[in-house]
This record gives sequence, structure tokens and C-alpha cells, in this order.
Amino acid sequence: MFAPRMRLLARCPECSLRWDRGNGFFLGAMVCNYTVTVFGLMLPLALLALCGWITPRVAIGLGAGIGLVFPVIFYKWSWSLWLAAYYAVLPNELPANAGQDHPLLHREIQKNQGEPPKRGRD
Ligand SMILES: [Zn+2]
Repeated sequence: MFAPRMRLLARCPECSLRWDRGNGFFLGAMVCNYTVTVFGLMLPLALLALCGWITPRVAIGLGAGIGLVFPVIFYKWSWSLWLAAYYAVLPNELPANAGQDHPLLHREIQKNQGEPPKRGRD
């Protein structure tokens, strides 16, 4: 899904599905990353500090460290999460689900000189 240096490939090398749809599509992955960072890590950290299990100073230090490192580590998974959520909500955007009228499928048929694209490995 990714080229070296965490650059997202524009298309799936197996089925040519467009991953980067342009026009701010990356914002969905950013929202997934932010949501997991804040609600999955920062909120529990704040609750630990509020309950007195860790001092506020430790919570702030851990929060700053996690806030800087975790989004970078989670970047690839945030794209997977975003694409899964996107295609779960809009399954007809997948060429295989859209029937013969999907523009991506027409482009693939033209590229393959009239043959529909192969799905999976035969
Ligand atoms: Zn694929």
C-alpha cells in the first residue's frame, strides 16, 4: 500500500483500485489518526491523571511524547482504517460492486484491450 518513505501508492498493484482519490481524500486518514490518538490514548491518560493514578506532570509528559510519536507510527494503519470505513459506507465505489457502468472499470477494460480486469489471483 505504501512506497518507501511512507508515500501512499496511488493504486493497488493487484487490482488497480485507486487508494488516493485526490481532492483532500487524505483528510479522512488524518481524522482517523487524530481520533485514535485523542480518544484511544490521550483521553485514557487524562483519566489516569484525574483518578490520581499518575501525576499531571507525568500525564503531560507522556501525552506530549505520545502525541508526537504515535501519529507517525499509526499513519499507515490510519489509511487502512480510512479506506475500510470509506468503502464500507460507499461499497458501490468499488469497481467490482458497481457493475459494468463504473468509470474505473471502463478505464481498466480499455487498458486491457477489451478484457475485463482480473480479480484476485487465478
Ligand atoms: Zn487491490
